[in-house]
Amino acid sequence: MAKLEVLKAADYIVFDKTGTLTEGNFAVTELVSKDLKVTSSQGKQKAGDEAKQSLAVIMALEKLSSHVIADSVVKYAQGQSPKSLEVDKFKNISGQGVTGEIGGKKYWLGSPRLLEEKNLFTGDLKKLHEELSQQGKTVVYLMTEDSFVYALALSDQIRSDSKQAIDSLHALGLKVAMLTGDNEAVAKGVADELGIDDYFAQVLPEDKYKHIRELQAAGNVVIMIGDGVNDAPALTQADVGVAIGAGTDVAVEAGDAVLTRNNPNDAAKLIVLSRKVYRKMIENLVWALGYNVVAIPAAAGLFVSVGFSLSPGWGALLMSMSSVIVVINAMTLRYIKLS
Ligand code: ADP
Ligand code: MG
Repeated sequence: MAKLEVLKAADYIVFDKTGTLTEGNFAVTELVSKDLKVTSSQGKQKAGDEAKQSLAVIMALEKLSSHVIADSVVKYAQGQSPKSLEVDKFKNISGQGVTGEIGGKKYWLGSPRLLEEKNLFTGDLKKLHEELSQQGKTVVYLMTEDSFVYALALSDQIRSDSKQAIDSLHALGLKVAMLTGDNEAVAKGVADELGIDDYFAQVLPEDKYKHIRELQAAGNVVIMIGDGVNDAPALTQADVGVAIGAGTDVAVEAGDAVLTRNNPNDAAKLIVLSRKVYRKMIENLVWALGYNVVAIPAAAGLFVSVGFSLSPGWGALLMSMSSVIVVINAMTLRYIKLS
């Protein structure tokens, strides 16, 4: 398979952050009210009435989204037992959040980009955002057309296998980059902790593939590893696109390979495997060619003058043996250690 040869020659590997290098299992850590009061969500006390109303809106919207953040938010909100509300005109805003009408009022929920578009990302709200981002938190904002309503700070965890995966890839001679729609501070935190060479933060889904293209334009053979719907164009743009198995069907469709376990370490294993398979191919080629170069003239009686001849019976047997040896050599691939 041609992709195998590309994999073996790859010199850059790009990971999607959320759900690939991190668990994608967000915990709600803080609640931010309309007047910018921050409370920890860890406490035992139940949310007040204002908070409950906002959480009800947030839950109703996130229930309709399939984003990893949405799942975690719904889980948290359900624990606060808010009212269930009806949503009209729901829309997913790819890489930014969601929007919909509740009780005749239009709401937006998602990244600070949405606040920015409405000129609501100013003063103390911006300061608070910077503070929470510095702590590695992803903040999700609820707003109407003209005002900020509520926010949740969430923290994700780096997968326990990610560090080792990056180290192995470095040992194999690859450079590692990370792509994310998340904010700069969170991206930098993860990149520093994992020793990632390059990262691109606040990348809109439709722009993800452009970063891949830039790396390719600089002469790199690029592998992209991702899980989300957002990642499909980047997976297609990359020389080899690898979908993480627990990801979405779209990513799996767009990928050239699928890692069936949700473990970034398998990326390094995939490269080791591609190199070993390639070696076997060369070995078998050399063996089959070399064998024939010697054996066919021998069977034709070319070496009779030096006292060596091959009877037709032996010739036939050895011919079959050569195929058997090639097959056996290929089969040893099943027993190689990838770690
Ligand atoms: P990533 O590239 O890290 O997988 P995405 O491009 O999917 O991230 O999303 C980028 C940002 O958009 C998220 O960090 C979040 O702030 C916001 N976002 C997207 N979808 C949602 C949602 N359903 N609810 C809240 N926030 C969202
Ligand atoms: Mg993602």
